[in-house]
Amino acid sequence: MTFTDSDPSYATRAREIARTVLAIGAADNDRAGRFSTEAVRALGGEGLLGLLVPAAHGGAGAGPRPFVDVTAALAEADPSAALVFVMHSLGTTVIAAAPDPAQVVPLLRDIAAGSHLTTLAFSEAGSRSHFWAPVSKAESLNGSGVSITARKSWVTSAGFANSYVVSSLSPNAQGPTDSTLYLVPADSPGLSVAGAWDGMGLRANASSPMLLDGCVVPGHLRLTAEGAGFSAMLQTVLPLFNVGTAAVALGICRATVAATVTHLKTARFEHLGTTLGEALPNLRAQLATMQIKTDQLATLIDDTTARLERPDGLTMLRVLEVKAAAGDAAIEVTSLGMRTCGGAAFSRHTAIERYFRDAHAGAVMAPTSDVLRDFIGKSLLDIPLF
Ligand SMILES: Cc1cc2nc3c(=O)[nH]c(=O)nc-3n(C[C@H](O)[C@H](O)[C@H](O)COP(=O)(O)OP(=O)(O)OC[C@H]3O[C@@H](n4cnc5c(N)ncnc54)[C@H](O)[C@@H]3O)c2cc1C
Repeated sequence: MTFTDSDPSYATRAREIARTVLAIGAADNDRAGRFSTEAVRALGGEGLLGLLVPAAHGGAGAGPRPFVDVTAALAEADPSAALVFVMHSLGTTVIAAAPDPAQVVPLLRDIAAGSHLTTLAFSEAGSRSHFWAPVSKAESLNGSGVSITARKSWVTSAGFANSYVVSSLSPNAQGPTDSTLYLVPADSPGLSVAGAWDGMGLRANASSPMLLDGCVVPGHLRLTAEGAGFSAMLQTVLPLFNVGTAAVALGICRATVAATVTHLKTARFEHLGTTLGEALPNLRAQLATMQIKTDQLATLIDDTTARLERPDGLTMLRVLEVKAAAGDAAIEVTSLGMRTCGGAAFSRHTAIERYFRDAHAGAVMAPTSDVLRDFIGKSLLDIPLF
């Protein structure tokens, strides 16, 4: 798929997919814990799986802002599908930065054509949320690649992706961050999904554990230089991951505000002859707080995105702040939405209860809100992060 200036903007396409595909299936997919293959097909069909693929390989060659705008638009209708998009887009940036680009061109072309979904498999059961320190160690096959045995604890799109960007300590690693990133195709012998995904929220994205049992990865599918996995995770992945997951939170906040407005305008006290919103100033004040927190998050995401486009001395601080702030905002806004809409929200007459559950994932996805606060404190005090 090629892109021209007269094409609809990426965010416009995302809003159309959100309206015609995601919004229709989100509630049922959440209830059933069903991965939305329709969402992936629609994203591929509109060229959005190739958003971050360089234009030279048929992609859109887009930067952080379209990525953020698309993610937020998708999340407003279905946060699960938005996370699938985020993980795929990040996997794509790692693949596009491979040391031997010629080896990954066919793959990038497939991604740009919308026929290949990828994802990140970093977190391991042994090091939990400390994704930067895999405990698995690749074994050298003496010139013909490596063999990897690893217990990956959560992998979004597990069993649905066509490939996995996998971290593992290098064969000659000396320390916990001497890692390398590898591409493991879905049909690799030894790769399996190790359990069903039955999360509290973000239930429709198959974030299951996966096992690699002696998976052989040929040399040409090594995605970083030996030992350069740690810097790729921090420099290539972390900035876009943090702003991308913040955009998921923003979509959740916006959807919750919209659902709360609808409820306050339509639910009535018949004995008073008013709507809830007309009758109760405390509900209007809570709605106002939800709107303020949502707009504060949007502004911080906007500032972070601008600093990713034109890096300066504050870029890394904002990258750390934005995901921590987003985790807080999503929980606060959806909690207020639950309270404001009362029993109607609690008994699932609105979608707010789903957003409330989805909102709680952001703070525990690594780097977690706690870890981010520790990093921010350390960086303000000039203490090394690792
Ligand atoms: C929906 C969902 C999708 C996911 N998708 C992926 C994926 O696609 N790929 C992937 O690699 N991973 C994925 N993850 C995993 C995620 O990134 C984390 O690794 C995981 O949520 C950590 O859970 P844990 O129980 O192992 O946390 P633990 O490490 O056990 O943390 C427990 C608590 O300790 C706190 N804590 C931990 N370390 C510190 C510290 N140094 N300082 C202060 N507090 C600390 C944490 O904040 C947390 O509150 C996903 C997770 C979820 C929920």
